[in-house]
Amino acid sequence: MFQFANPVGFCNKLKKLSVMPKNATACVIGSGPNGLAAAIVLAQAGLQVDVFEAEPSPGGAVRTMGLTLPGFLHDFGSAVHPLAVGSPFFSSLPLQNHGLRWIHSPATLAHPLDDGSAVVLERDLENVKTALGADANPWIGLMQPFVEHWQEFAPAVLRPMTALPKHPLLMARFGLNAMMSAKTIARRFQTERARALFAGFAAHSFLALDEPLSSAFGIVLGAAAHAVGWPIPRGGAQSITNALCSYLSSLGGCVKTSSRIESLAELSGYSLILCDVTPKQLLQISGQRLSDNYKRSLAGFRYGAGVFKVDYALSSAIPWKSTDCGRAATVHLGGTFEEIAASESATRNGRVAERPFVLLAQPTLFDASRAPAGKHIAWAYCHVPNDSNADMLTRIEDQIERFALGFRDCVLARRVFSPAHLERMDANLVGGDIGGGALDLRQFLFRPTRRTYATSEGNVYICSSSTPPGGGVHGMCGYHAAKMALCRGI
Ligand SMILES: Cc1cc2nc3c(=O)[nH]c(=O)nc-3n(C[C@H](O)[C@H](O)[C@H](O)COP(=O)(O)OP(=O)(O)OC[C@H]3O[C@@H](n4cnc5c(N)ncnc54)[C@H](O)[C@@H]3O)c2cc1C
Repeated sequence: MFQFANPVGFCNKLKKLSVMPKNATACVIGSGPNGLAAAIVLAQAGLQVDVFEAEPSPGGAVRTMGLTLPGFLHDFGSAVHPLAVGSPFFSSLPLQNHGLRWIHSPATLAHPLDDGSAVVLERDLENVKTALGADANPWIGLMQPFVEHWQEFAPAVLRPMTALPKHPLLMARFGLNAMMSAKTIARRFQTERARALFAGFAAHSFLALDEPLSSAFGIVLGAAAHAVGWPIPRGGAQSITNALCSYLSSLGGCVKTSSRIESLAELSGYSLILCDVTPKQLLQISGQRLSDNYKRSLAGFRYGAGVFKVDYALSSAIPWKSTDCGRAATVHLGGTFEEIAASESATRNGRVAERPFVLLAQPTLFDASRAPAGKHIAWAYCHVPNDSNADMLTRIEDQIERFALGFRDCVLARRVFSPAHLERMDANLVGGDIGGGALDLRQFLFRPTRRTYATSEGNVYICSSSTPPGGGVHGMCGYHAAKMALCRGI
């Protein structure tokens, strides 16, 4: 694993900490990875920190729970963690000493096709020659600069894009590629296999694949696949949360669960308030604390598409037509570039896709601790319009059956989450949006407003994935927000 000795952000003038009064206390609303990251930065700086979490258990969209049958442990939200293992901040913490163990499947990702084969992405960039043949060189050419310089690239890309880059050449190279659509980048590849593979990575953006910036996610996630892998935590995503909570506790911080904050007025005793919530909730709890101008800006924040998710308890491993799919914890189901593009374009235009692009994780092939002996779990979701109430179960299972005939016969139990169900279990998942807001050009630069983490109130900051760099389990929103709060003082 990479070690980031100094996860420098845009704000690193800790000498300004002197403006923080002695015995200053801070609180964080929300214990998602960004809330916990913010709490840890504040506790490391010597503040007494309390974290208030609405739900009975901490973690937000990084929780593992029994959702189907006894003995089966499912990830409610995140399952596969390239950005957590590659996070400059998380990598600087002793999370291994607090129980976190990463498991890397033999191959990073599999993408089955209708001819019964699968494109299998190996972690080693040199090995893509087997999977991509004629397109190995263009793939390597696209990814290599960011893979080789991941230690510089990750801190530079996981922060506000408006900050001056420390590595201008590397970031200029990224910017030129990232501004393009996935469709434009895919023209570099001759084969259907490479084009399909890139489409699967780019579709994580929730953008239509002919939109500018849709390639950005493809490049970051593709580079991460080779630089740090796409691992799963042993025991499930909860292990990340538990390690963060345990480390926070060792610094004197405290997480109070089942403690929903209804109004900022409840927190008047704290010198500093960091909010791991999205603009919608910040508006709900703001009371008189925030200016009308700022509230108007927040109200203009746009949420992205939602997801429809299914968790499965299975009697056996998924019977993939291509046995190569069994080598990867993550499987992208959607066929060709054009099919995935059609699926994402439908969602972006407010429709549900007939053949949705499905993201599937099969952790128990590599972590037997999460199901009874010989049994398995699977986690699958597809994109739907925000707050859609469409039932996507049949369409998701048709896509799985397309590449794994007999899948339905293995299902012992399933638990379905519509966007509304997801939001009920984590208020930040507004309309099922798992990225904390759309990542279009405006919100790529300024998120949620031009002030980024700051609000109109001097001691109130926002630190959720609605701030830069956005969605994913990396904690960098919380890290940067807390650094800004410490720099500015009270
Ligand atoms: C189905 C799904 C699949 C995903 N897959 C992946 C993946 O594989 N890999 C990946 O990297 N990312 C994935 N993500 C995205 C990732 O989980 C999120 O981007 C990340 O969790 C955001 O962290 P956060 O701290 O900003 O918010 P959250 O994790 O949503 O945490 C916010 C917390 O704040 C609490 N809260 C909200 N309002 C209040 C209040 N008023 N008072 C007290 N507490 C409050 C909530 O209960 C919640 O615990 C997925 C998400 C989902 C839902």
